[in-house]
Amino acid sequence: MESQTSKTLFERSLKVAPGGVHSPVRAFKSVGGNPIFFKSAEGAYLTSVEGKRYVDFCMSFGPMILGHRDQTVLKEVHAMIDTAWSFGACEPYSLELAEWIQARIPWVQKLRFVSSGTEAVMSALRVARAATGREKVLKFDGCYHGHLDSLLVRSGSGLAGEASSDSAGVPDSIARNTLVAPLNDLKALEEILSRHGHEIAAIAIEPLPANYGLLEQTPEFLRSVQAGAKRIGALWLLDEVISGFRVGLTGMAGRLGLKPDLVCYGKVLGGGFNVAAYGGRADLLDLVAPSGKVYQAGTLSANPVGMRAGLTTLKRAESMGLWENLQANTRDFCTKLTHGFDAAGLDWTVDSMDSIFWLHRKSAQPIRSIAEIPATQKESYARLFHALLDKGIYLPPSGYEVGFVSAAHTTELLADCAAKMIEAAKEAGKA
Ligand code: PMP
Repeated sequence: MESQTSKTLFERSLKVAPGGVHSPVRAFKSVGGNPIFFKSAEGAYLTSVEGKRYVDFCMSFGPMILGHRDQTVLKEVHAMIDTAWSFGACEPYSLELAEWIQARIPWVQKLRFVSSGTEAVMSALRVARAATGREKVLKFDGCYHGHLDSLLVRSGSGLAGEASSDSAGVPDSIARNTLVAPLNDLKALEEILSRHGHEIAAIAIEPLPANYGLLEQTPEFLRSVQAGAKRIGALWLLDEVISGFRVGLTGMAGRLGLKPDLVCYGKVLGGGFNVAAYGGRADLLDLVAPSGKVYQAGTLSANPVGMRAGLTTLKRAESMGLWENLQANTRDFCTKLTHGFDAAGLDWTVDSMDSIFWLHRKSAQPIRSIAEIPATQKESYARLFHALLDKGIYLPPSGYEVGFVSAAHTTELLADCAAKMIEAAKEAGKA
């Protein structure tokens, strides 16, 4: 491996995988250039196959809240692997994690573990359709819920709420069952609910939209969506795959006092292993097989290694007071950044929520919908991204992805990175 470079590995990859990757953003298409191949990770750092070290702010797109290879998690994972790594049968490990969550999150009366966020959302929607006997689902433009057909849609150009497919291979007949509303727009929401309310099985939203920049919604908007769902007899599905166990222990629902009927988790829940879950009201989860008629299954669901990694990650975060620390550290890091950008007269800023942050071009108003994202974001971010790679900092490879701070990012490291980001923004501005 030592003799391989990222470039030669990517050339080989292009011959075996579409675009050379197993998930699109990894290909660096949004920022340009050759993707870096990493050979190892430790704490806040990634090491490339060339042996160069980078401070990682992508953190596997969110799961690694303790940093890479946390030693306590590592010990538990080793212990589990020494015991078994898959049963396909009942075991106590998933029970422990499920009870831990149930004891702390009142709106998770029951849950089912699955292996990806996509699967969690897909299954929760099936439950919602079964429970309501309705077919349509309402989602919001700019929210991502995984690559299930019915949610790979964007708003259409016709009537309010109408959707069109956002991927080849998603038939219009499926896209037609999904309605799309703009974020932060109560008038549009009301219009869709009054026209289609009786057909909608579920209203799905990321309570902290973090897949198209960081589009923080007002509590009033989220509460109105919740009230709207109740009024029309639809279920309220919160997709907390990013925000769950990241924005505090109880996610955005806990932060804002939201009461979802169904909720989806992933990322931090598995501590970097393939774990996700859907949960919610017991009467809804009891619709799922084998207690009910909604079929959903998985060969590797509740894989014991992931269960142990997830539970250890969460217990450790709770015992360290991690969420409070991360919030304070990230706030401090973002304040340093905004002051630095302003002092240098740069047109950059950063938005954050707890340990999630998004670097973007300045805007006059808070950015709450995709239409408000500055048009230059993609190109400017690409320049910043590459300037930072040169300085040994790895941001997510797209200007529409958010960055993550972990327990392994010390205050000294964050201060150093903030200074480098300000320098990089100066250089990128000149380029
Ligand atoms: N929902 C949200 C909010 C997500 O951010 C993601 C992944 N980024 C998903 C669902 C899909 O999760 P996965 O990639 O594990 O299928």
